[in-house]
Amino acid sequence: MNIIGFIYDLDIANGETKRLVCPNCGRNKNEKTFTVTNNMGSILWNCYKVSCNISGSLRSSLTVADIKKLQMGGGTLEDDEPFDMPPYVIAHRGERSLISWCAKWRINEDELGLLYDVKEHRVVFPVIHDNVIVDATGRSLGNRFPKWKRYGKNSLPYVHGSGSVAVVVEDCVSAAVVGGYDSFVGVALLGTSLQESHKRYLAQFSTAVIALDPDALPKTLQFAKELRGYVKDVKVLRLNDDIKYQRQDDIEKLLSFRTDKGE
Ligand SMILES: [Zn+2]
Repeated sequence: MNIIGFIYDLDIANGETKRLVCPNCGRNKNEKTFTVTNNMGSILWNCYKVSCNISGSLRSSLTVADIKKLQMGGGTLEDDEPFDMPPYVIAHRGERSLISWCAKWRINEDELGLLYDVKEHRVVFPVIHDNVIVDATGRSLGNRFPKWKRYGKNSLPYVHGSGSVAVVVEDCVSAAVVGGYDSFVGVALLGTSLQESHKRYLAQFSTAVIALDPDALPKTLQFAKELRGYVKDVKVLRLNDDIKYQRQDDIEKLLSFRTDKGE
């Protein structure tokens, strides 16, 4: 068992404690003998069963949102909480690994306004709504964990492009790719679920196309069902590969969803 992976997946916030069935010795769902605590980024875990000796600790850096919360005396953060880009996220200044990463995906760093995280060596996608940067998400250009890091706590999606057709995708790269084609807005959920804030955002479009990875068909159908109450026309794009690879047949299918075609 990978205990570090297990702990990371719990995504435990600063100040939070969780009691769970022990991943090492737990047999009974009602026996929550395993405790995990995050105290100022110091994550400690142990099982209090005498026969089980699992315990450990690791340090995680506090997120910007954690720090703000501490400064506000533990108050909760709302979606409209102003977001400040961390000072170590700066203009990319032609950073070579960032430029070649973008070239690999055939996306334009300047058109997308991408930034660079000098501390963790990440390419940073600003999440912009109503001309305001409300959050940002950075993808590691090296081997830094996690691969994608969210800097703030806003739940709005990452979007790119303009038009009347929203294309719901899994990540920023796909959204950037899709938004590069006329009449589409690429909308990346940055998570595994369709949240209330995503649905509210998508409600402004007349058409939404769900274009998740081909292996995510059950999720695709679920999203389509959930969106039908919000968007008039919900469609499913059956891809052969992840849209960010821009396979010719996939792109042709995507373009067939243009509402202004034939004009
Ligand atoms: Zn145990």
